[in-house]
Amino acid sequence: MKMPKEKRTYCPHCKRHTIHEVHTSKKRKASELKWGQRQFRRVTAGYRGYPRPLPGGNKPVKKLDLRYKCKECGKSHIRKSFRVGKPEWVSN
Ligand SMILES: [Zn+2]
Repeated sequence: MKMPKEKRTYCPHCKRHTIHEVHTSKKRKASELKWGQRQFRRVTAGYRGYPRPLPGGNKPVKKLDLRYKCKECGKSHIRKSFRVGKPEWVSN
């Protein structure tokens, strides 16, 4: 699917439509204090290691974690995500 690098959309900080930069979020090192990491430590503690996979298996087409960064105020926000097999970034 063709994805635009820039998109004119509503900015909740400016409270009007502005041009936004669209990009996917990068994976960061998990903080030991975050809930997900605490749960992971709790589940892998003791006997039996990793949590068992889901019975349905993993889905081949995954949702993108898109961030929309306003070019005027510099703040970013997220919108409802959707499934994309192969994202193809196109400049407009
Ligand atoms: Zn803004």
